[in-house]
Amino acid sequence: MDLKQIGFNFDNSYLNLSQTTYIKIKPQPVSNPSMVLFNKELAKELNLDFSKIPSEFISKIFAGNLIPNNTEPFSQAYAGHQFGHFTILGDGRASIIGEHLNQKNQRYDIQLKGSGRTPFSRNGDGRAALGPMLREYLISESLYSLGIPTTRSLAVVKTGESVQREIIHPGAILSRVASSHIRIGTFQYLASNNNTSDLKNLLDYTINRHYPEIKKSKDSAVELLHSFMLRQINSVIEWMRVGFVHGVMNTDNMTLSGEAIDFGPCAFMDVYKPNTFFSSIDYNGRYSYKNQPIITKWNIARFAESIIPLIDKNKETSIKLATEVLELFDKYFQKNWLEMMRSKIGLIRKHKDDKKLILRLLTIMEERRMDFTNTFRMLNQKKLYSKSLDFKNWYSDWQKRVGNFGSFESSQKIMMIKNPSVIPRNNLVEQVLNDSKFGNYKSIKNFLRILKKPYKNYLKETIFIKDPKIDPSYKTFCGT
Ligand code: AMP
Ligand code: MG
Repeated sequence: MDLKQIGFNFDNSYLNLSQTTYIKIKPQPVSNPSMVLFNKELAKELNLDFSKIPSEFISKIFAGNLIPNNTEPFSQAYAGHQFGHFTILGDGRASIIGEHLNQKNQRYDIQLKGSGRTPFSRNGDGRAALGPMLREYLISESLYSLGIPTTRSLAVVKTGESVQREIIHPGAILSRVASSHIRIGTFQYLASNNNTSDLKNLLDYTINRHYPEIKKSKDSAVELLHSFMLRQINSVIEWMRVGFVHGVMNTDNMTLSGEAIDFGPCAFMDVYKPNTFFSSIDYNGRYSYKNQPIITKWNIARFAESIIPLIDKNKETSIKLATEVLELFDKYFQKNWLEMMRSKIGLIRKHKDDKKLILRLLTIMEERRMDFTNTFRMLNQKKLYSKSLDFKNWYSDWQKRVGNFGSFESSQKIMMIKNPSVIPRNNLVEQVLNDSKFGNYKSIKNFLRILKKPYKNYLKETIFIKDPKIDPSYKTFCGT
């Protein structure tokens, strides 16, 4: 089969880094690959054309059975703090089939997740189950449509093999597309090797790939720390805008590009409860909704530690310079968070009492167990909450504030692009995943279609905007 016509344009620049950072290894073929989901739109953005390739060959490509011949697949080495504990990790079940350049010269890692054992697999089987891979596809594509920086999903194939977890599941492979897979943990890994020259190469590589604007800086390490911090702050604020709880913000799951990655135990909050977390193994709520800012700061501090040798020859000076950057975190976060919350309630221009107004609303929402998504989306419909006096008072103050600096119409416009009408509700995610278990992929495809336009007013499909059935004990499992 001539795969040339697809248009893969591989250029595996990561292989120019130190050989300690990766291992060249091919995905292990699977017995009977079949396509479950394929993202035509993403393929188009990548300028990949599968129209002349018979479907069985497409499945083979995304199963790793068939590798285009102009690339050398590899798995990456990294470390990470998992729930606060440092561990050496690496791609234990993933292989980057290549870095592909599209016609705009944008570089994307195409990675197969669930591609078989690697030297980093530890006790794992190198494989993935269908449910979690569909979940990652659904959530990542939903975040993308919500306008949030994220890795994306190009395909899910079933392998025809089963994987053993608590019970037996059908096996699957997800094709993940990322602007890179460099993580805080990649830096931590090289820092733990005490090889400053490898670390410096990774730093330069990361700047080249993700922060070219600071390439010429004399203080590139400290500049990267600053730019990366800002980017992560903005990403996490965007998660919070839509009620997203990532759920496993270990340092190996935080990319230098700022894209959200790894959607194991993540979920969207229904009722507004700042302490919301879903992961069955997050016993203390370390990664709860409200802890996401403080964990982001903690993770960035781990990144800062790992690049200390690159900031200044003198360690004391390095620590001082890194600390000065980290000390800006709270100020940046609060400022940008307030800006985001202002937009959610349609406030134009700034006023010194805005924060109070926002916090008052959040308090009412928490006390009255109001739905996060629907409250903001329907804020203009005061009749919804007419029984609550505190909400009525708040509503009237809010209307005055909106009227004082603009018009209700212009506020509405902002609110309609900042407050989604549909998110992947937990009960609906479970429902479509359950249907998929029995080979019915229609419902997940239909759900994906709706999630593509999350800011649209859905009149007919009211199931997606009505108060959902809420399961307060909803838990997500890492059993991937
Ligand atoms: P995650 O929790 O998905 O971020 O994964 C943490 C680490 O465990 C990474 O190094 C993964 O490659 C590895 N891992 C997860 N599942 C498996 C598996 N089934 N086989 C081998 N390694 C795995
Ligand atoms: Mg991970």
